[in-house]
Amino acid sequence: MKLAVASGKGGTGKTMVAVSLAIAAAETRGLEVIYLDCDVEAPNAALFLHPTFEERRQVGVLVPKVDRNLCTGCGRCAEVCEFNAISVIGLKVLVFPELCHGCGSCALNCPENAIQEQLSVTGILEKGHAGNIAFGHGKLNIGKAMATPIIRDLKEWILAKLNRDSLVILDSPPGSACPVIETVHGADYALMVTEPTPFGLHDLRQAVDLIWGKMAIPVGVVINRDGIGDRRVDEYCMEEDIPILLRIPFDREIAETYSNGIPIVEAIPHYRSVFSSLLHTIIKKAAL
Ligand code: SF4
Ligand code: SF4
Repeated sequence: MKLAVASGKGGTGKTMVAVSLAIAAAETRGLEVIYLDCDVEAPNAALFLHPTFEERRQVGVLVPKVDRNLCTGCGRCAEVCEFNAISVIGLKVLVFPELCHGCGSCALNCPENAIQEQLSVTGILEKGHAGNIAFGHGKLNIGKAMATPIIRDLKEWILAKLNRDSLVILDSPPGSACPVIETVHGADYALMVTEPTPFGLHDLRQAVDLIWGKMAIPVGVVINRDGIGDRRVDEYCMEEDIPILLRIPFDREIAETYSNGIPIVEAIPHYRSVFSSLLHTIIKKAAL
C-alpha cells in the first residue's frame, strides 16, 4: 500500500505524523516500511529517523548544449520548446537551464544535429535504513527550482523493486502544486495533516480539491494542535464528508518532543497504539 502524508499548509506537523506512522507500522505492526521524504526543498524526516545512508546519487536535468560549428541559427529549437528555455537571436542560441525541463525536444528537432544534452545537476538522492525502515530522500540544491524531477527520480529509484506487501509512506511537500502531484501520484490513500486555523483550512481545501477532487485519491484528516483556532476545519470536513481520523492536542510536551527531533511515538509511548490504530483505520478505508 502507498500512503501519502500531505498537508496543504506548511508547518502543520506532517512529518511528525508520517514518521510516527512509519515507526508504529514497523515496530508495532511488524510491516515492511519504506519511507520516502519527497519534500525535497526542505527534507527533515531524517532529523527524526536518523537513517544510515548506504547509497547516494546525483540527479539533474539533461539540458541542451549547442555546437556553434554546426548550428545555422534556423530557430527550430526555440519554436519547439514549450518552456521558453531556449531562444535564438541571429546566429546565437541562448539556453536558460533553470527553465529547461530536459524534454529533449530541441535536440530531436534540430535539423543539423547541433544539440547534445548534458546533465545539469539539481540535487542528490540518498537511500539507506533507519532501523528496520527503508529510507530515501531527495535534496534539491540551493538555488535550483526543479523539485518535481527529483521526486520522480526518487520514487523510481527506491520503488523499482517494490514488495507488494510493503507499506510505502510518501512524505509530501506542502502546497498543492506539481511537486505534490508527483508525490501523491499512485498513492492509495492520502492523509491530510492540518491545524484548526483559517490558514490551515484554506490550504487544506486547496490540497483536498487537488488530491481528492482531481486525482480521485481518497483522503482522511489529522487535526494537529487541536484546541487552537476555531471549528471551521471540522465543519468543512463534515460538509465534504471527509473523515477526521485523529486529533493531536495542542500540548507543550508534544511541541517539545517535536522541536527536539524526537518522534511523538518514542517520547510518549501511549501514542504508539494511537498511531497503530490510525494505520489500521487507514488500511481499512483504502481498501473500500
Ligand atoms: S535547431 Fe539546431 S541549427 Fe537550428 S538554431 Fe537550434 S541548434 Fe541551431
Ligand atoms: S530540453 Fe526541452 S525544455 Fe529544455 S530547452 Fe530543449 S525543448 Fe526546451
